[in-house]
Amino acid sequence: MNEVQTFVFEDLAIRGALVRLEETWRQVLAQHHYPQELRRLLGEGIAATVLLATGLKGHPRVSLQLQGDGRVKLLLVQCSADFEVRGMAQLREAQANDALLGAGRLAVNLDTGENGQQFQGIVPLVGPDLRACLEAYFAQSEQLPTRLYLFSDDGRASGLLLQALPGAGEHADDFETVTALAATIRAVEIAEQPAADLLEQVFADYTLRLFRPKPVTHDCRCTPEYLARIVRMLGTAEIDDLLRERGHVELVCEFCNRAFRYDDAQIEAIFAGQAPSQPLH
Ligand SMILES: [Zn+2]
Repeated sequence: MNEVQTFVFEDLAIRGALVRLEETWRQVLAQHHYPQELRRLLGEGIAATVLLATGLKGHPRVSLQLQGDGRVKLLLVQCSADFEVRGMAQLREAQANDALLGAGRLAVNLDTGENGQQFQGIVPLVGPDLRACLEAYFAQSEQLPTRLYLFSDDGRASGLLLQALPGAGEHADDFETVTALAATIRAVEIAEQPAADLLEQVFADYTLRLFRPKPVTHDCRCTPEYLARIVRMLGTAEIDDLLRERGHVELVCEFCNRAFRYDDAQIEAIFAGQAPSQPLH
């Protein structure tokens, strides 16, 4: 189950989205050895970024970047218009009793790709967890009451978003009721029940309209073309140094943590502008 299900409450100006990731989430984690607290945060970040992407017109690419002075130095998650996700996180050397996030900022970048149109919303880190920071982002940037429920462990990353749409004013009480119901959902339910069953069970007093679920896949985009561009950006002087020192050039993708090696002949071909060959793994 790697999909996102969007829905609306009939008669109420409230929309929702439910994301559940298994294999896609495990692919994000593969090859990394993140400590448990960082795995949980990254899973929540992946789920939240997919949820964020569901409500946006023009299907922009969404990038979520969190930088703080706590134990987490950086969290970066990106989601394409077709719900292809990638993500990475870094911890810093810190004292065990330092806050996980600390002070810092959360930036959400939306890129429609048309005429380079971009929008960036930045909020300070306001709470102990990602959910609080993202709800602050929604309050500031979209100015729509929004609630998030995020769950993550080593096998699954999932989440639910509820948002009061413009015109929901007269249904303010309903939004409170609906979000109170959502708060009763447990991680095991969100992970194991079919989306339609879960939503209809939790919101039994309401009529829901469910849209077609969309698959969410992992794609970290470290293609031979992309890697060749990095080699060219590093320049001949630096690459020659690396070749002299080690006999090869090794690039490590910070998203998937895979290492790619190029030998002399491959490097020469890249600088000659030839089509990049598959690097040696
Ligand atoms: Zn990669």
